[in-house]
Order: sequence, then structure tokens, then C-alpha cells
Amino acid sequence: MSRSKDGEFVTPGDKIGVIEEYEPGFGTYESDGVVRSSLAGMVERDVKNHLAVVKPVKEPLLPRPKDIVYAVVSSLSDKLASVMIVSVGNRLLSDCLTGLIHIRASSTSRVRSLRELFKPGDIVRCEVLTFKNGVYHLRTQGPGFGVVYAVCSLCGTPLVRSRRELRCPVCGNTERRKTTRDYGSVRLRWLI
Ligand SMILES: [Zn+2]
Repeated sequence: MSRSKDGEFVTPGDKIGVIEEYEPGFGTYESDGVVRSSLAGMVERDVKNHLAVVKPVKEPLLPRPKDIVYAVVSSLSDKLASVMIVSVGNRLLSDCLTGLIHIRASSTSRVRSLRELFKPGDIVRCEVLTFKNGVYHLRTQGPGFGVVYAVCSLCGTPLVRSRRELRCPVCGNTERRKTTRDYGSVRLRWLI
């Protein structure tokens, strides 16, 4: 393998130089007099101090199957909910990603329409099933998944749980959602 230039992208095992030129710094190791990269990143050579380091490239945060994500419901039909994924766990994404919840993956009980479970603007906790054609397919079955935060459709006040319903503490309106068991007590850094 040819010697990499300064600022060049290297992967583990790539040759950076020889020990006579550079001392192996962060992200590098020496083997048989050759300094090689131990990670994927950008090479930086300090010629004056004879030191070579590799700065790791930060991989963009993307949801993977089985990840728990938080998303805002953007639109609903009977069979399909379209959502914007905002965070993976507590880690905020740099760009929102599109997700879909199909009615089959929405609840363990029988549901005629997703409108019985969600409303646009709700924040839902989902599990990632797959990534297909640029869209994340999500599920909300089970007590750990569903709506964690919802506001009153009449006045915009956050709804509080009241037995099997959600109730608006301001106007008294009651609504239904497929809530998580911990609805109302979920604290997310990005959700104030
Ligand atoms: Zn209200």
C-alpha cells in the first residue's frame, strides 16, 4: 500500500510512514518499523515533532434495526402513520429522518384505524424494524412503545393521563392515544 498523504483518509492497517520518520501517536501503531493506522480517520503528520496521529472520523448517527427512536407524528391515514424521527434514544439526530408505522406494527390489540392511536404532533417511542427505500419502518407494539407526549387538540396544553384516557388539565377535553406505560414521565433532553 502506498504511503498516505497528510489529511488523507486511512483505514486500519494503512501505512502512514516509517518509525524513522514518525513516532506512532494517537490512532496509530508500529509494526516492523512501519507506522500504521489503527482506525478509520484522517492522517495528521507533525513533521517538526516527528509525530503521526489519526483523528477518527465521526460517523453520522443513524438509527439501526432494534434501536429505540423518538419521532413526531406528521401525518396519518387509517393504515399508515408518517413520522419524523428526531432522536435515537436521547441522542438528537442532526437531520430528521422519515419513518413509517404500519397498522400491523402499531399495536397488539385489534385496531381499525391508526387515528385511534395517534394524532399529528404526538411524540412516539418506536423500535426500528428495517430501513427500506430511504424510509425507516417502525413498530409501536407493546407497553413500552407508543405516545410519550401529546397535547390537547383543542387548546394545545400537554395532556395528562387520567385512567385509560388522556385529559387536558385546562379545558377538560379528553382524548385517546396508544400511550406508553411511562407516558407523562419521559424526560428527553430535547423535549422541554
Ligand atoms: Zn385543552
